[in-house]
Amino acid sequence: MTYISRKTQAVIDLTALQNNYQYISTLAPNSKTMAVIKANGYEHGAIEVAKALEEQVPCFAVAFVDEAIQLRKAGIKTPILVLEGPFKESDFAIAIKNELSLMLHTPEHISWLSNDNGAYCSDIWLKVDTGMNRLGFRAEDAPDVIASLNEEHRKKLIICSHFSCAEIKSNLKTAKQITQVKALVEQYACQYSMANSAGILNWPESHGHYNRLGLALYGVSPIEQCDLVDPLEPVMTLEAEIIAIRKVKAGETVGYGDTWQAERSSIIAVIAIGYADGYPRNAKSGTPVFVNGSIAYLVGRVSMDMITIDITDLPKVSIGDSVELWGKNISVDTVAEYSDSINYELLTRLSSRLPKTFINQNHS
Ligand SMILES: *Cc1c(COP(=O)(O)O)cnc(C)c1O
Repeated sequence: MTYISRKTQAVIDLTALQNNYQYISTLAPNSKTMAVIKANGYEHGAIEVAKALEEQVPCFAVAFVDEAIQLRKAGIKTPILVLEGPFKESDFAIAIKNELSLMLHTPEHISWLSNDNGAYCSDIWLKVDTGMNRLGFRAEDAPDVIASLNEEHRKKLIICSHFSCAEIKSNLKTAKQITQVKALVEQYACQYSMANSAGILNWPESHGHYNRLGLALYGVSPIEQCDLVDPLEPVMTLEAEIIAIRKVKAGETVGYGDTWQAERSSIIAVIAIGYADGYPRNAKSGTPVFVNGSIAYLVGRVSMDMITIDITDLPKVSIGDSVELWGKNISVDTVAEYSDSINYELLTRLSSRLPKTFINQNHS
């Protein structure tokens, strides 16, 4: 075994992941709930996440072909949808070889499809743009595109669209997007897929043949207040240990740029995690961390390898004690708020320097 000195790590609770998947599937009982595991499973470890879910999940989704190949190499046999579709024609050959489904969203994709002489046997996932204005054929152009497909392909059509504002329940845009998709679905009597996590939680009328569950699978919510998210369990705990404790006098400063000044004599603990691990450098003084059952607060700037917290008011804190930066006690949402970011970004930008430890109570 390799020697590990630094205890900084992301602990990934695969049992919580499985529970979250089970629970969210019950919210959309008439849909197949896909697990979106792009960006290394929102940086929870795509292969481990896939292995923990492969018996329950009908289909995984990733962003691009390379991510799907990694899963195939690891022995994952479940269907995989590539959300951004092919980037070049040779991606079709790769998709055929690896049994991947490609989201088709440009005229080039349609002509590449017709060039392959029927070798591509997947369903035809067709992306229709209903207001995100990122990927997909405009809804008014969809009939021509569908008309250009051969009979075999038309039979396997799955119309997809992506929401731009589904996390806000009062926003009328989502209802309009749903109406546009449903009109096409009725016209072509085909399957469809719209809902992301926010769609699953906020918009039952958007539940399709397939829903695309991403963030909420990891126990983190895309929406602010909603009873439905209460049963979710955060899958990731980001933790690190205290490597030094020091006293500073009133008036002294801590860290780069002298941005924090002690108002009283204070005790400062130094924790072995920094922005090189993916802890956000933007996190402001006052960002909470969890130490020995209490909350303490970040003081001074986040360094590359370390952060500093004020433990003056905490009983019994020692070198070697473990600190939770986010997880079951400190929400990643809170850290996101203190660092002008969002939960999605904080999770996915954890660095490759940070080791992961996987726990699964169902298989211990
Ligand atoms: C990432 C992604 C999802 C999952 O979104 P969440 O908000 O994480 O649930 C669904 N659909 C598409 C097209 C995506 O790119």
